[in-house]
Amino acid sequence: MLAERYPYYLANRPRRPNADLPVVDKYSGEVVTRVALADAAAVEEAIASAVRAAEPMRKLPAHARQSVLEHCVRRFQERAEELAQVLCIEAGKPLRDARGEVTRLIETFKAAAEEAVRGGGEVMDLEVSPRAEGYRGFTRRVPVGPVSLITPFNFPLNLVAHKVAPAIAAGCPFILKPSDRTPVSAMLLAEVLAETALPEGAFSVITPSLADIGPLIEDERLKLLSFTGSEKVGWDLKARAGRKKVVLELGGNAACVVDREPGASLDVIADRVAHGAFFQSGQSCISVQRVLVHASHYEALKERLVTRAQALLAGNPRDEATTLGPMIDEPAARRLEGWIQSAVAKGARVLTGGGRKGALLEATVVEGVPADEPLCAEEAFGPVVLLQSFTSFTEALRTVNEGRYGLQAGLFTNDLSRAMRAWDELEVGGVVVGDVPSFRVDTMPYGGVKGSGLGREGVKYAIEDMTEPRLLVLRQR
Ligand code: NAD
Repeated sequence: MLAERYPYYLANRPRRPNADLPVVDKYSGEVVTRVALADAAAVEEAIASAVRAAEPMRKLPAHARQSVLEHCVRRFQERAEELAQVLCIEAGKPLRDARGEVTRLIETFKAAAEEAVRGGGEVMDLEVSPRAEGYRGFTRRVPVGPVSLITPFNFPLNLVAHKVAPAIAAGCPFILKPSDRTPVSAMLLAEVLAETALPEGAFSVITPSLADIGPLIEDERLKLLSFTGSEKVGWDLKARAGRKKVVLELGGNAACVVDREPGASLDVIADRVAHGAFFQSGQSCISVQRVLVHASHYEALKERLVTRAQALLAGNPRDEATTLGPMIDEPAARRLEGWIQSAVAKGARVLTGGGRKGALLEATVVEGVPADEPLCAEEAFGPVVLLQSFTSFTEALRTVNEGRYGLQAGLFTNDLSRAMRAWDELEVGGVVVGDVPSFRVDTMPYGGVKGSGLGREGVKYAIEDMTEPRLLVLRQR
């Protein structure tokens, strides 16, 4: 079903240079297709055409931007199964997860189509001082100009959607650099964008090598860099980004607290924790990595979680029954296997899992992991969950706050005051009460603090970043 070779898209059009990069089936490890590789000249052309498109994009009426987004929604609906199959191959996602991601892609574009016609502003009374009597202020939001968008491998379509759809809604030309490990689905998205009436040069989707990528970060003609990916790369890029705005959506080691009176049955909690920890083979930035359980439930929840981990069907993501696919590649699975072994050497106990075959790591439940072991302190980004018991709620909150990440946290409690305390005290971008930290819908403000990033996505919030208020002051005589 894959083509032999895919073009990249430069200034709205497909280009097919000689150089390309191989794309691997993440289950078989075989090269299954190739995507055209952009060189330094293509990067420059993408930037120059985005700059030229800034004015026509700014002038594109709201209804026209909405129509572009609605066209995409229709085409993604028509091509949903094809997109899911591509995700399954290039990202190793079990088909059911891949279909779920396509549904979210569609929801994200729908939300952007709605936001595209909600542009508004403020009317303000400026008579705050005698010298301003008779003055009124008005704002409207204007697009910042050309934006640079860089995305990771783990949600190759929906995380692209979280940047591309707001850029269209805001009226910003954009250059997207998808992950070189999962570029095919982004090129199919570009194919759909090329069918629309976006102004000439308004978008490019290119995959340059790291040697040629510099201008997408450093060039001052680009007004915003929106990056989703790992902590190290993200903060490095920010240091190189100059004067442009920077949005960073980075990693985490999300925690979930199960309180003394958790407000849900342990079966329900175990279902949700298992889903949050093992969905996508744990390769989600808000995957449940640390579970802090009140001592009164610890053994009972542990048993239930182990049963659920063992019930997962690991294997070929193309089989409809598969519920646990491979990690992105064998080195990633080896890295995590090494962390598990290191924790065990320091006294941790593997309750189930721990085994690895190629890129396929078993769903793993571990307890007794020292806080300074990488398995606890770093982002695992794989199908591993750590259990720990607590007796003091204060202590549990303190443990969640340990370390350098702060994306989302989950809390099962039926005590409203504890829920409010967690909302106050946890150093994260969002607290989910009654569910795991992995909960996300695509309109909510989403992002992290501390090492987990800077700024928020979620369609409306990304549009805020891609626009800025322009003030009009009127003096009434
Ligand atoms: P990564 O940082 O390796 O790569 C992300 C993107 O940056 C890719 O397109 C990659 O090609 C590019 N890149 C890598 N090095 C670069 C450089 N020196 N200059 C410019 N671009 C460069 O991340 P990944 O392995 O693809 O994705 C996994 C990471 O993404 C995890 O840490 C995960 O938590 C994070 N993530 C965060 C969110 C979020 O919303 N907070 C969502 C998904 C994934």
